[in-house]
Amino acid sequence: MVHLGHKLETVQDEGDHSLLTFADGKTVEADLVVGADGIKSVVRHQLFSEKGPVFSGEHAYRAVIPMDRVRGLITDDDFRMYIGRGTKVYLMPLRYRGQVSFDITALCPDSTWAPQVTKDDLLATVEGFDERPVSITRDLDMDTVNARAVYDIDPVGTWHSDSVVLVGDAAHSMLHHQGQGANPAIEDAGALADALRQADSPKAAPALYQATRKPVTDELQRISRQGWTEKEIDDIFPGQKSAAAAGQE
Ligand SMILES: Cc1cc2nc3c(=O)[nH]c(=O)nc-3n(C[C@H](O)[C@H](O)[C@H](O)COP(=O)(O)OP(=O)(O)OC[C@H]3O[C@@H](n4cnc5c(N)ncnc54)[C@H](O)[C@@H]3O)c2cc1C
Repeated sequence: MVHLGHKLETVQDEGDHSLLTFADGKTVEADLVVGADGIKSVVRHQLFSEKGPVFSGEHAYRAVIPMDRVRGLITDDDFRMYIGRGTKVYLMPLRYRGQVSFDITALCPDSTWAPQVTKDDLLATVEGFDERPVSITRDLDMDTVNARAVYDIDPVGTWHSDSVVLVGDAAHSMLHHQGQGANPAIEDAGALADALRQADSPKAAPALYQATRKPVTDELQRISRQGWTEKEIDDIFPGQKSAAAAGQE
């Protein structure tokens, strides 16, 4: 059963089971708690790591726009990216819905979680870029733009006890520079289900799950912090330093 509208306040690890307390006063006892509560995870913070999210020094702005507003930039399913002065502009086709995700990631020292930004702020970040992404930016309806400061977490040493396990961003929030985060969260869920089927005992499953997934996500967290510097782009696409268009699988 899914019970919506329950805000977790505390989790107590009692060895072979755990106790959860929610903001509405309800309590739950569970054989296995799966902490899938995101980058600010209460479960991680209370049981596995007191370290908070780490600010990357960037903002991410996203709007989903109709395909016919992309000024010919999207002709197939290829992801297209423009990079310069620490700003990354990318267009991600969502063909099945006739839309495109238009994203700008820009250097910014303001670490406010959900920053207030204006059209002028966005235009300043793409100044000097190819006219097409600039004019898409100029036409954006700011009410549809999602703006947030970009954070990840440092790798967490242990994701589980016998009766609690972390998955997704709660376990391994990463920067979005490799297009990863939700993908490994889904893979975690599959790996945890496999471990619960395969392990000799329910207690052994969380350890098996962590052994399968953590090496992968540690590496994803590491390379996601590398971002896309102009030097890295120039190595991959020599001579296209300021405007690289790349296909992504
Ligand atoms: C700009 C940007 C671009 C991205 N691009 C990509 C990409 O291209 N590909 C990709 O794979 N990933 C991408 N990601 C990452 C992706 O969004 C995350 O990795 C993914 O959403 C994590 O899923 P999750 O379910 O672990 O956590 P979340 O989506 O954060 O879900 C956590 C849930 O837990 C709930 N919750 C939190 N605290 C409590 C509590 N105390 N009690 C009850 N519920 C609680 C929240 O309300 C939320 O519903 C991007 C992220 C950003 C910021």
